[in-house]
Amino acid sequence: MFKVGLTGGIGSGKSTVSNLFRLKNIDVIDADKIARDVVAKGSQALKEIEDRFGSDLILDSGELNREKLKVQVFNNSSDLNWLNQCLHPKIRAIIETKVQSSKSHYVILDIPLLFENKLEGLVDRILVVDVPEAIQQQRVMDRDGCNRELVESIIKKQVSRDYRLSHADDIIDNSHSLDNLKKAVSTLHQKYRVLSENG
Ligand code: ADP
Repeated sequence: MFKVGLTGGIGSGKSTVSNLFRLKNIDVIDADKIARDVVAKGSQALKEIEDRFGSDLILDSGELNREKLKVQVFNNSSDLNWLNQCLHPKIRAIIETKVQSSKSHYVILDIPLLFENKLEGLVDRILVVDVPEAIQQQRVMDRDGCNRELVESIIKKQVSRDYRLSHADDIIDNSHSLDNLKKAVSTLHQKYRVLSENG
C-alpha cells in the first residue's frame, strides 16, 4: 500500500486537506486520534502508565489525566523517553493494521508531528501543507479563539517552516482560497494514483 504522510504546522490546513482526500474515497489515518485511543480507559498503555507513575495520573472516571502526565514528563527526559517507548510501538502497530486493511487506492497518514517524532520512515512520500506564519497565526486564532502569544508558543515548539519545506516531496500552498486548495488536492490525487499504480 502506497502511504502519503500529510504534515504541516498548526493551522496550516491539514484537517481541511484530509477531508478533501476523504471526499475522493481515500482512507485517512489520523495519528493524533490513534495516540488518544491508545491510552483510552482500560487500555494496556494506560495500565503501564499507572504502574510507572502511580494512580495519581488516573482520573476518577478511569481516564488518563493528560495534564498531569504532561507535567510529569515535561522536565524529565528519562520519563519522556519511557513514555515514547511505551506508546510509539503501539501507535505504529495500529497504523500498520489500518494500512493493511485499507482498500483505497493509497492511504493518507495524517501525522501533525511527523518530523518532530521522526516518523518519516513510516511513509513513502511526504506532503507538507504550507502557509506563511502570519496566515497560520490568524487562522488558528479564528478557529480556536486563542491569543497570538499562545499560537506563537505552539509554533515555536514545532519544526521550522524551512525545515518542513526542505524535507517535503510535495507541497500544498494553502495561502489562497478553499477552491484553490480543492484544485491542488485533485492534482495530487491524480499524481498519487499514478504513483501507487506504478508501485
Ligand atoms: P490544521 O488541521 O493544520 O491545524 P485546519 O485544517 O484546521 O488546520 O485549518 C485551520 C483553519 O483554517 C480552519 O478553521 C480552516 O477551516 C481554515 N482554513 C483552512 N484552509 C483555508 C483556506 N484555504 N482559506 C481559508 N480558511 C482556511
